[in-house]
Amino acid sequence: MTLSHARLTRHSRRLLQTGSVAATVQALAENTVRVHQATARFRATGRALRIRSQQLRVENRWLRLTRRRALIRRRLLNGRLPYDSAPKLLGGPGDGGACGARDGPLLATQLVMAVPMAGSFVELHGDCVMLWDQEGVGRHPHIA
Ligand SMILES: [Zn+2]
Repeated sequence: MTLSHARLTRHSRRLLQTGSVAATVQALAENTVRVHQATARFRATGRALRIRSQQLRVENRWLRLTRRRALIRRRLLNGRLPYDSAPKLLGGPGDGGACGARDGPLLATQLVMAVPMAGSFVELHGDCVMLWDQEGVGRHPHIA
């Protein structure tokens, strides 16, 4: 027997002490069935949690976008983002800096765009550029 006594259930241990191999095999088979049933319950719970998580992400998407748009509008107003568009934007992988729209890290796995501003560039995530474009380009508050 390779199983240690500590790992056997009390029932299985008692059966081993009485020398009933058939009963021990039966107990192990029953334990195996219980383990399979528990595994199926855990998988079902995991699936349900994954689905609920996806639902919450969808529900919160509008809130996240609203917050990001508000942050971009504030940065447009305080001059941290330009109102003017550019004929061309340069893009590439992030280099570890911070996004000019929301301060999130610009990762090498993300598309980052360099937006011209005041003789330099401000770097934004690709999706932040889209929001910036929708919120600010051509909508300077001081130009009627
Ligand atoms: Zn960003």
